[in-house]
Amino acid sequence: MPSIFTKIVNGAIPCYKIAEDDNFFAFLDINPLKKGHTLVIPKKEVDYIFDIEKDILAGMMVFSQKIALAIEKVVPCNRIGVVVLGLEVPHAHIHLIPIDSEADVRFSNPRVRLTEDEFKDLAARISKEIE
Ligand code: 5GP
Repeated sequence: MPSIFTKIVNGAIPCYKIAEDDNFFAFLDINPLKKGHTLVIPKKEVDYIFDIEKDILAGMMVFSQKIALAIEKVVPCNRIGVVVLGLEVPHAHIHLIPIDSEADVRFSNPRVRLTEDEFKDLAARISKEIE
């Protein structure tokens, strides 16, 4: 059965998309730790990030860089934190999280609540900044 993220890539489940190319897809985390919290995934479903084929794994970080630089332009923060857990969804993903301190990346923190319009507006603004 396809992962929930494969369903997002295929358009079977909606998301607030930031960007995609042939190999990767970026979208806003539905339960963000901070405004702008984004997930980057490979389109080809692989559970564990270190099982990803070398060239794709390297490309995933370069794709993430492009997305992170765009998030920074929209969301005021000290920098973009990069986290990989993969304990919930068995489809490899990189969390890109705007942070000001180490405490901002605690996954036990309460999540930020955004309206649908706020999610849409945020995704559109980040998307526009991608070079
Ligand atoms: P992890 O697998 O890294 O522990 O966490 C999975 C992340 O995916 C969580 O931050 C969660 O909020 C996010 N997530 C889970 N299901 C969905 C979904 O259907 N849509 C979106 N946009 N994010 C999701």
